[in-house]
Amino acid sequence: MRWSANKTVVGSLEGCEVVRVLVGEEQRDFTLHRKLLCDSCAFFRTHIEAIPSPSNSKDGEEEEEDDDEGDSVLWLPNEAPDMFEIFVLWLYQRPRFPSFIDYALQTMCPEKFRTLRTNLVHLHLFAAVIDLPAMQDAAMDALQDMYLRFDWDMSPRFLAFLYGDCDVQHAVRLRKWAVAMLAWTLHGADKAVTMAGPVEKLFVAYPELQADYHMHLQKMVQSRADVRIKNPQLRLPVNKLKSGERFFGYRLCTFHSHRATVGEGTCPHALALGHSPAAQPVPKRHKGEAESDISDADLISPVRDLNEISYLDLS
Ligand SMILES: [Zn+2]
Repeated sequence: MRWSANKTVVGSLEGCEVVRVLVGEEQRDFTLHRKLLCDSCAFFRTHIEAIPSPSNSKDGEEEEEDDDEGDSVLWLPNEAPDMFEIFVLWLYQRPRFPSFIDYALQTMCPEKFRTLRTNLVHLHLFAAVIDLPAMQDAAMDALQDMYLRFDWDMSPRFLAFLYGDCDVQHAVRLRKWAVAMLAWTLHGADKAVTMAGPVEKLFVAYPELQADYHMHLQKMVQSRADVRIKNPQLRLPVNKLKSGERFFGYRLCTFHSHRATVGEGTCPHALALGHSPAAQPVPKRHKGEAESDISDADLISPVRDLNEISYLDLS
């Protein structure tokens, strides 16, 4: 993957230092608060701090003269701008991210649902690339919720993308969930017949998929779960389940990055945000939950409307 961090960092905007990030080959321009971006993960911190800041430059006059040519940017040439819009939304509105997705789904035209889904998949992969587990898990939650809301099945095309086009390390959690979805679909009454042919072809094309699928079925047997009713769309609100609950859905963190370390404890993302995952109507406006110490007034996302987002559709 190619990353480019060239030139210098932009000065300040309304008292806060900002960074321009250009995304994709089209170089869509995002102006973001530097501290917020640096605080999000080591990837941005390293790349941004490596760029000489204009405040450290020796000649202030040069900055003004170089306003056009000397622009300070971080360029992510291989990422999708529409995916990055959702990243910005998460960055600025992290505690309210689920409610933004929910609002988008209520207001956007249905033809765009799959596009949003695809962008969330790319967000999940981007989170793996830049090592930002909290965002990866937020993307996973949003995906599961979308599939539950629309009762979508796992499509052969999506599986082919995960096993044919993606780096195995980046896609490991998506693959785990997709395989669980596939098993659930193939053991369901209505879709099993129509899916069987395409899936056989996929198994031939991607032996790893076949191996993962059979491993999943083995685990289901070992845990005495019924693959016909254990629904991977459904993430139960806690990791510690009451008797019987696990037969119908998956623990909250099953497809999260930290699943192995949490056991039946509380999801660390919920702890970080200061609330229990069991009772979380997402607050409309809740001061003090921001990840950064930039004042709340500054944390107004440059991205507000997911309805305009469009990108490669995997459906
Ligand atoms: Zn979790």
